Amino acid sequence: MTIFEKICAKEIPAKIVLEDDECVAFHDINPQAPVHVLVVPRKPISRLIEAGEDDRELLGHLLLRAAEVARRLGLAEGGFRVVINNGRNAGESVPHLHVHVLGGRPMSWPPG
Ligand code: 5GP
Repeated sequence: MTIFEKICAKEIPAKIVLEDDECVAFHDINPQAPVHVLVVPRKPISRLIEAGEDDRELLGHLLLRAAEVARRLGLAEGGFRVVINNGRNAGESVPHLHVHVLGGRPMSWPPG
């Protein structure tokens, strides 16, 4: 089981923002912005490149939940960033697909 599967199963504690049948959103343990939340599917897809056509609805759901997290945590007006790290060069460190929602400060572009 990945660490995120354990969080989804409530075997490891996390500060949960929202959850439903398909996903759990919780605060990152090492936040990179004043708000840093991870939206994690309960289905343990390793990374985006491993998602299939069967996951079309789930992927859309994760983005809608990411927007809901941003709304609930007051990021809608100021803006926020949504990130998916896929693989080594992107800095992926947990092999369980997750959407980062970052906000609460200005962010530079291009990302590092
Ligand atoms: P990645 O680098 O794979 O895109 O993102 C993984 C994220 O998971 C990192 O930002 C890291 O801080 C976060 N993380 C790793 N382990 C835990 C944990 O046990 N609890 C929480 N809440 N976040 C974690």
